[in-house]
Amino acid sequence: MKMSDRFRNFMRGRYGVDQLSNGLVFLFFILILIGILTRNTIFTWIALIPMILSYYRMFSKNFSKRYNENRIYTNLMSPVYDLLDKIKGFFNRKIKRFKTRKEYKYFKCPNCKQELRVPRGRGEITVTCPKCKQSFDRKS
Ligand SMILES: [Zn+2]
Repeated sequence: MKMSDRFRNFMRGRYGVDQLSNGLVFLFFILILIGILTRNTIFTWIALIPMILSYYRMFSKNFSKRYNENRIYTNLMSPVYDLLDKIKGFFNRKIKRFKTRKEYKYFKCPNCKQELRVPRGRGEITVTCPKCKQSFDRKS
């Protein structure tokens, strides 16, 4: 039997990886990093706890219990996920704006501060904000 088949057999009927396990692995790396930065081995030992827990959960056969743990975790973490999504969105917008800076001119609506863009090179144009419907003139 191949090694990968053996592993697949072993994992059959076991819970596997979920968000909580990923979170525990992340915590493990954070603690290891703190241990390195502070040169304090106690963090390395503490780091083993989330690592062991993550393995325990991965190989567990109690699906409903692991599933409920993960649900509690994702509920608790949802504000964090939302914040991360916002940060990601912010940077994605900045990147998009930078990539299209030659084709579009970007500015903020003077009334509601909504970010708007117009194609460049059309001279003086009247722009109507799609959000607050205010019209104003801009050079494009
Ligand atoms: Zn507006």
